[in-house]
Amino acid sequence: MTDTDASRRNFVTGAGVVAAAAAVAPVLAQAQTPKPVEAATTPAAAAYPKPPFQAQSQPWPGLASKMNPRPDHGEQSYKGSGRLAGKRALITGGDSGIGRAAAIAYAREGADVAINYLPAEEPDAREVVALIRAAGRKAVAIPGDLRDEAFCQKLVARAAQELGGLDILVNNAARQQTKPAIGDISSADFDATMKTNVYAPFWLTKAAVARMGAGGVIVNTSSEQAGDPSADLVDYALTRAAVLNFTKSMAKQLAPKGIRVNAVAPGPFWTPLQVSGGATMEKLQSFGSTAPLARPGQPAEIAGLYVAAADPLLSYSTGQIFGSTGGNGQPA
Ligand code: NAD
Ligand code: MG
Repeated sequence: MTDTDASRRNFVTGAGVVAAAAAVAPVLAQAQTPKPVEAATTPAAAAYPKPPFQAQSQPWPGLASKMNPRPDHGEQSYKGSGRLAGKRALITGGDSGIGRAAAIAYAREGADVAINYLPAEEPDAREVVALIRAAGRKAVAIPGDLRDEAFCQKLVARAAQELGGLDILVNNAARQQTKPAIGDISSADFDATMKTNVYAPFWLTKAAVARMGAGGVIVNTSSEQAGDPSADLVDYALTRAAVLNFTKSMAKQLAPKGIRVNAVAPGPFWTPLQVSGGATMEKLQSFGSTAPLARPGQPAEIAGLYVAAADPLLSYSTGQIFGSTGGNGQPA
C-alpha cells in the first residue's frame, strides 16, 4: 500500500483524521482559544412592537420623538466594526426613521456623516448629531428642501467641503401621502412627490458623481412598493419603481469609474413617514400585520443593509437591490 492509498483510506474511514486531530489538538486549542463574543442577534427583535398600534397622526413631516411607540433606530444596540472607517457620507432624511438608523450605523462603523432634513425636523436632527458625535465621528447638519435643484447642489458641495470629500451618498428622503383616488392627487401633490423622490436623487447623484472617485458609493432607497404598489400610494409607488430602475442604469454607467450604486428596498417600517399622512389610520393601526413576520420592521433592523451596500468589502455588488420586507415578495 502506498502512502497515498493509506491517506485515502484514513480519510474515508476517518480513523487517521481522528488520530491526526488528536495529535494537533493541544496546539490548536492553545492557539485558537475562542474569545467570548456577544450574541450577534438583536435581543430586542423578539420584543419589537406588534399591531394593533394606537391611533396617532402628526403634521407632515412628523417627528420620531413624538411617535408611540418610539422607533428603535439602533441607538442602544448597533455595534460597529470599522466597516466604513474613514469614509465620508451624506444621508438625506438622516434625522429620523431609516435614514437615522443608517446615520447611527455609519458613524459607529467609522464614517463621518452629514445629514439633510427639513427645518421642521430640527429636534430629531439634533438627537442624530449628538449620536454621531458620541460615536467619535464628525457630524454635519444641513437643513433644507430637496425639491429645489439649487439647494441640492449646495447640499452636496457643503457636505463635501465640511467632510473634506464625499465617498458615500445615501438618497433616502421621500414624500409619501395616502390618497384614496387618483382624483385626489393634485398636480401640486404629484409634483412634490416627484421632486422629492425622483428629481432630488437625480440632482444629488449628478452633483455627487462629479466629486467622487473610484470607491465611491451611492445607496438609494426604493421599496416593496416598486413591484407591488398599494392602491392608495399611486404617485409614491411609481417613484420607488423609478429609483429601482435608476439604481440599475447608474450602476452600469458608473462601473467603469469604480463607483458602485445599490438600493435598499424596505417593507413596512415604523417611521414618521407613516404617521404624517403616509398611511390611512386603519393601515397604521394594523401596520405590518400583512407581513409574514406579523409586525413592522424597526429602523435598527435595516441599518445593516445600508452598511452592506456601501461596504468596500462588497466590491462586486453594484446594481443590487437589498430587501428587508419581513417575508413578503421582493421588488424586481
Ligand atoms: P422618515 O419620515 O423618517 O424619513 C423621510 C425623510 O424624508 C424625512 O425625515 C425628511 O427629512 C425627508 N424629506 C421629505 N421631504 C423632504 C424635502 N422636501 N426636503 C428634504 N427632506 C425631505 O421615513 P422613512 O420611512 O424612514 O423613509 C425613508 C425612506 O424609506 C424613504 O425613501 C421611503 O420611501 C423609504 N421606505 C419607507 C418605508 C416605511 O414603511 N417606512 C417602506 C419602504 C420604503
Ligand atoms: Mg424626519
